[in-house]
Amino acid sequence: MAKRDYYEILGVPRDAPPQEIKKAYRKLAVQYHPDKNPGDHSAEEQFKEAAEAYSVLSDPEKRLRYDHFGHAGSQGFGGFDPEIFSDFSDILGDFFGFGDFFGSSRAGRRSHSQRGADLRYDLKISFEEAAFGVKTKIKIPRHQGCDSCNGSGAEPGTDLTQCPTCRGAGQVRYQQGFFSISRTCAQCRGTGSILKNPCRICQGTGRVRKEKVLEVKIPAGVEDGSRLRISGEGEAGTHGGPAGDLYVVVSVEEHSFFERQGNNIYCEIPIGFAQAALGAEIIVPTLDGEEKLRIPEGTQTGTTFRLRGRGIVSLNGHGRGDQFVAVRVVTPEHLTREQKQLLEKFAQVRKEEYSPQDKSIFEKVKEIFG
Ligand SMILES: [Zn+2]
Ligand SMILES: [Zn+2]
Repeated sequence: MAKRDYYEILGVPRDAPPQEIKKAYRKLAVQYHPDKNPGDHSAEEQFKEAAEAYSVLSDPEKRLRYDHFGHAGSQGFGGFDPEIFSDFSDILGDFFGFGDFFGSSRAGRRSHSQRGADLRYDLKISFEEAAFGVKTKIKIPRHQGCDSCNGSGAEPGTDLTQCPTCRGAGQVRYQQGFFSISRTCAQCRGTGSILKNPCRICQGTGRVRKEKVLEVKIPAGVEDGSRLRISGEGEAGTHGGPAGDLYVVVSVEEHSFFERQGNNIYCEIPIGFAQAALGAEIIVPTLDGEEKLRIPEGTQTGTTFRLRGRGIVSLNGHGRGDQFVAVRVVTPEHLTREQKQLLEKFAQVRKEEYSPQDKSIFEKVKEIFG
């Protein structure tokens, strides 16, 4: 039988751009695919013919040789590109959106079990939850094994049927001149069997999309950006493959008052200047509630006090960090007349205006700025 011209097979002009060739091939592949035409020998032939034409015309180098030498030019390649069927499923995959065109035949691939994909879940927790740990429920939309068919993909009560294309061998032979080329059967993808009655619940994939509620325990001491791996809680595997893992990525909200560095926390407390001068007992918020802190007399702005064991619980469970309290002395504003008089009197008594120490500072400033 004389070979038909590849351009003629795909119904495209000789100068067709690659996209047009791809488009034409998709159309034919969908029309003549064995899954759609069971037992139709002529459709199968046309399907193979189109695949062969596409394997040559989609490759710029092979297309060039074919253009110059015709079929003789493509003979040197063995005619048929062994990779064509993986290309083919890619093409149909993006054409149908989910690769479900092969759904029924894929589900028959018992030998190609695959591990499920890992999943990522972003969890936002509060500063306090990070400090002490938290148990929380998260909802994960994911693929799980189909209960109806137990993951087999076959409608309950039905079984897998022998693949009509390869008659169960999983391999198809092609005669190419002196060569006989054996390749993986495209219909059953090498497994030798196909699904006649795909499960109605999962459409033969063996998996269904479900929302799973999981309780996760976030340990005390987690930091912003920590990643927790929960093994086996990712997507279900296909055809008996193991499930993937779930990664919970923790983001910790900032606190309005505390700042964290490692397991220590830092805060700043404003105090009145009379308190700073005379000393005082002040109330300090901690992660465990309010606590009294004794400020000695003559405390300056920036003086830092340490509250031992009031920081973050250590991630390894041993001990806690400390809380550091820096005081800021607030200069009084909006003074009443009486307050002003008192302060003026105070300054006079202290001789602050004329203090030699101040004078020397003013003189230094003058030296520096001229
Ligand atoms: Zn099912
Ligand atoms: Zn087959």
